[in-house]
Amino acid sequence: MSVNQQAHTGPPYGQPQPGYQGYPQPAYGGQSLPGVPPSQYGAYNGPMPGYQQPGPPQGYFPSLGFPSKGSPVSLNSDTSSLAPNFIGPLRAPPTSGAPPPASGASHPSGHLAYSQYEHGDVQNGIPASAAPMQRPPASQPFLPGSAPTPVSQTSTFQQYGSPPASVQQLSNHMAGMTIGSAAASAPPPAGLGYGPPTSVPPVSGSFSATGSGLYTPYSASQGPPPTSVSQGLPLAQPPFPGQTISTQRLPTQVPGFAPPPPSTGVGPSSYPPTTGAPRPPTMPGPPLPGQTVAGPPTSQPNHVSSPPPPSAMSGLHPGPPMSGLHGPPPPTHPPQPGYQMQQNGSFGQVRGPQPNYGGAYPGTPNYGSPPGPPPKRLDPDSIPSPIQVIEDDRSNRGSEPFVTGVRGQVPPLVTTNFLVKDQGNASPRYIRCTSYNIPCTSDMAKQSQVPLAAVIKPLAALPPEETLPYLVDHGESGPVRCNRCKAYMCPFMQFIEGGRRFQCCFCSCVTEVPPHYFQHLDHTGKRVDFYDRPELSLGSYEFLATVDYCKNNKFPSPPAFIFMIDVSYNAVKSGLVRLICEELKSLLDYLPREGNMEESAIRVGFVTYNKVLHFYNVKSSLAQPQMMVVSDVADMFVPLLDGFLVNVNESRTVITSLLDQIPEMFADTRETETVFAPVIQAGLEALKAAECAGKLFIFHTSLPIAEAPGKLKNRDDKKLVNTDKEKTLFQPQTSFYNNLAKDCVAQGCCVDLFLFPNQYLDVATLGVVTYQTGGSIYKYAYFQLETDQDRFLNDLRRDVQKEVGFDAVMRVRTSTGIRATDFFGAFYMSNTTDVEMAGLDCDKTITVEFKHDDKLSEDSGALLQCALLYTSCAGQRRLRIHNLSLNCCTQLADLYRNCETDTLINYLAKYAYRGVLSSPVKTVRDALINQCAQILACYRKNCASPSSAGQLILPECMKLLPVYLNCVLKSDVLQPGPEVTTDDRAYIRQLVTSMDVAETNVFFYPRLLPLTKADVDSDSLPAAIRNSEERLSKGDIYLLENGLNIFVWVGVSVQQGLIQNLFGVSSFSQISSALSTLPVLENPFSKKVRSIVDMLQGQRSRYMKLMIVKQEDKLEMLFRHFLVEDKSLSGGASYVDFLCHMHKEIRQLLS
Ligand SMILES: [Zn+2]
Repeated sequence: MSVNQQAHTGPPYGQPQPGYQGYPQPAYGGQSLPGVPPSQYGAYNGPMPGYQQPGPPQGYFPSLGFPSKGSPVSLNSDTSSLAPNFIGPLRAPPTSGAPPPASGASHPSGHLAYSQYEHGDVQNGIPASAAPMQRPPASQPFLPGSAPTPVSQTSTFQQYGSPPASVQQLSNHMAGMTIGSAAASAPPPAGLGYGPPTSVPPVSGSFSATGSGLYTPYSASQGPPPTSVSQGLPLAQPPFPGQTISTQRLPTQVPGFAPPPPSTGVGPSSYPPTTGAPRPPTMPGPPLPGQTVAGPPTSQPNHVSSPPPPSAMSGLHPGPPMSGLHGPPPPTHPPQPGYQMQQNGSFGQVRGPQPNYGGAYPGTPNYGSPPGPPPKRLDPDSIPSPIQVIEDDRSNRGSEPFVTGVRGQVPPLVTTNFLVKDQGNASPRYIRCTSYNIPCTSDMAKQSQVPLAAVIKPLAALPPEETLPYLVDHGESGPVRCNRCKAYMCPFMQFIEGGRRFQCCFCSCVTEVPPHYFQHLDHTGKRVDFYDRPELSLGSYEFLATVDYCKNNKFPSPPAFIFMIDVSYNAVKSGLVRLICEELKSLLDYLPREGNMEESAIRVGFVTYNKVLHFYNVKSSLAQPQMMVVSDVADMFVPLLDGFLVNVNESRTVITSLLDQIPEMFADTRETETVFAPVIQAGLEALKAAECAGKLFIFHTSLPIAEAPGKLKNRDDKKLVNTDKEKTLFQPQTSFYNNLAKDCVAQGCCVDLFLFPNQYLDVATLGVVTYQTGGSIYKYAYFQLETDQDRFLNDLRRDVQKEVGFDAVMRVRTSTGIRATDFFGAFYMSNTTDVEMAGLDCDKTITVEFKHDDKLSEDSGALLQCALLYTSCAGQRRLRIHNLSLNCCTQLADLYRNCETDTLINYLAKYAYRGVLSSPVKTVRDALINQCAQILACYRKNCASPSSAGQLILPECMKLLPVYLNCVLKSDVLQPGPEVTTDDRAYIRQLVTSMDVAETNVFFYPRLLPLTKADVDSDSLPAAIRNSEERLSKGDIYLLENGLNIFVWVGVSVQQGLIQNLFGVSSFSQISSALSTLPVLENPFSKKVRSIVDMLQGQRSRYMKLMIVKQEDKLEMLFRHFLVEDKSLSGGASYVDFLCHMHKEIRQLLS
């Protein structure tokens, strides 16, 4: 070992910290619960126990200065020995891919003080600000042409005027292609090298989200999608009975819906016996080839070949699996007259044959079933196309701003580029709902099985054209709130008695208006200062919190960032340590700043570790940094206070010196073992000692097997896949980290984890603290400097710079009749209402589910208020409030007409991904399928006009539910292929849980662009195409992205000129699959493609890994995994097959 390790001799450090008193204050929480005194903050106090005193330090050994002479590092190590070019382009402000500084720069004054908020735009109800703002005054007429909003989440491109890709054309190209079935049905390659170098976080596909991309209108040749194309059958578009509906909301009828082709691949992988029973009319159910049919086709609902799987899923409701993800089991279903579902007696029976279904479905690659005669295929163009739906929404809704003044409005899709004008409801960038029209009764809700959920991103980044929430300062009195439920003042509160009191829109309680807040009402009953006050006229705003909202009644200190670098053998040898140190030297200049502050208030500290920890004193008065080694990792403490957390500018020289020396100091290390929990504990203790919140950036390489608390063992076992024990792979192997996470949350210590594994390192366990503290996790398997450094550095830069709130608590209040019952995301909950996050950044999303607890009324609708209490990056305590009003309905058709499938999928994916922690994966998949079948069956039963049972009729707003659901079902978490590692699955599971709707959309259904169709003379993107091999032409080059990966697929017959222009080589065979970036070549095609890649990178919250895939190359197997409309190697059904399966399920429910 090259670093001094000395015995513990030091005296205990630090004074006893006054115990945290908790939040004795009045008021934060407190949605008055029955029997619970409305002690507001009481609720927030939940975590109290976590605020412990730092244990008495055991001892430390301050070795003054660095190791003695003999040690590997001299204090004045020659920094020139560091290869300066080791790092690519340094910080030069965010490189292409790097997002702009989250705060600061792009938003001159992070928040406008209330005083600046002047009377304005009465017309629109949005006050205009006198302060310099980046967006045009609210009253300014919106110019469609100026819409494009280059912003992280929403896309940057505009006007893609490229020529519509003609599908017809594509299919023509495909004639004679060989990409097709033969290749597709090949069994998975034995040793497909997903491994090392090429390893990719397996992900399942998705659709390009946020889309910015305005694809050109979908090719006319394709015609109006599902609804109009049929295999010669007439298209039925029955209007809702007795209702006038806009054409846009017409149900989609998939005409001539045929049973799954008895084809080759279909067989086993799709839905055999049970479902295999094709629709009687057309195909009297011959079993699919290659299958064992265990019994009569499902058309006999009572055929039960085995009991339904036990549903012990904690996450899922007890009851037969059939009950779906929601609500009580069907048997208790409120009897609806004539509702056929009941006839089966139990849904379990309906799905009796399940076991068979399960047998074939799960990963077993009987995929390559005997190639039979060419399948009689359902025309893929006749089934609902995601591309078409996205295009339609763009053309219909992309040109107008979305004005939030109307209750229950369904916003444009996440793939549409649009601007938002806040006129009283929160922007869809902050909140999206599964439905904007809620059933009035719980019976209706249960009948439909449509989950009622909101996906909330409280600190979402906005495009520059939109205004950040105004900051309202009510001085010492703090925000005005309802006396009973503690809801915050909002546009829906009713002022009465001449303005002296107000009635709460959430609980109806009447509260006195504080004298300082009194204002007269106009003749309509509206306060005359209505437009002057954001909290009266806007959907989103912030309050400056008073000391009552702070821990211990004390305003917080600015947060701190602590960088904790693994310096074990692997980390050093790969060049990672040097890379990180080099990067930090410049990155530290880009710490988040508040508004216009000149420098960041965030202090920084540094730790390195392997089996022991090294703390560094970088106090500005020192000539050189000093290292202190703590080798007693059993009871971690921080050996120094003064000089550990410092201001970057003040200590710059010492910090730079330290970062120069670290790589040298450990250059010869032979230590391979690491600890992990003590590292987090050290960071936690340091923040405790400094009495501040903060974030730990931990760079870690291996399974922590060194003797220490939180030590782990390798328990990876892929044999558990598809067994009842599979869930253990997702669970942490010890509860130690859960307890540690709780302590971290109590302190506001958020943990961001950068992993660089060369083998299993148990992401499921290491990620626990990150997950529960609201942190982010990044994984770079088999990290190689040459290919991975750009990706890592871009991620690191964005992660360090992005806007983040600390020590956050979120509460969602609802109007009477519904309440938040369940939460999904990266956070910790110590009670049933408060979502606590040590850190919450602009990318993190919390999905909240609501249930009825009473009847709702169509007149009053339903209200949500999300209140987030947090500490800003400068240490200011704030409350961010988002309000949203929804409609309520007594007709199911209204529910189905106001749904948003993308949000539904976000919810369902998170629900399923949590379910795998407690239930067999198959049970989770079945529950998903069943719930969606019930949703669609209920629609068919209650909202669609009578028609032949052979017709599949989908609600217009949900016509993509089957295709997207299938993508979730065959994702790596729910149906992994053989190449997917346990860590990959745990990683994906964790990522998805915090994703917003745009991210889940593109993740599950990737965006596929024909690059060779790109117009090099315009800024536009080529029109996206559907994710199916059938759509690929071997003469073209395509790009596929899903938020984590970018693939550039090159067909074998691509013109030599194009290859030369893009790759700089003269033939297909010379293209290197090892490229991780496209060569920079000076020609229009190369520039165009690179600009598309840069544009996509800029839209995503993570820097995507780029891979070159040559047709018929082995990497193509990996690529095919993302062609989500096709059958997957792991047994996932094709879209066509799955749609047939859903159709069958629906028919069973209805019969
Ligand atoms: Zn109230």
